[in-house]
Amino acid sequence: MAKGRVAIVVERCKACGFCVEFCPTKVLALSSAFNSKGYHPPHVVAPEKCSGCDLCGMYCPDFAIYGYKNPVTKNEAPQPEAEEVRNEG
Ligand code: SF4
Ligand code: SF4
Repeated sequence: MAKGRVAIVVERCKACGFCVEFCPTKVLALSSAFNSKGYHPPHVVAPEKCSGCDLCGMYCPDFAIYGYKNPVTKNEAPQPEAEEVRNEG
């Protein structure tokens, strides 16, 4: 399962390609579809590779994309003795 996800606000995108270029695991590619401004927004081509690092969001000049970590699932949750750190993030 992917560690993270990415959300794309298609209508804000100006197709600069920074998110595609700087994603360390090549999750994104520019789509062949247009948004209403005539730009090709990115789309997700490899969702399983997304770490949720949000580098795409940091490089996007138009706040059109952001990445986030998936919540920790029950099996991956900290052991009871580490319970005090559970509220992080
Ligand atoms: S960095 Fe932002 S504006 Fe540039 S292509 Fe990606 S989503 Fe679009
Ligand atoms: S959050 Fe990180 S891994 Fe996921 S698409 Fe953005 S840059 Fe790539």
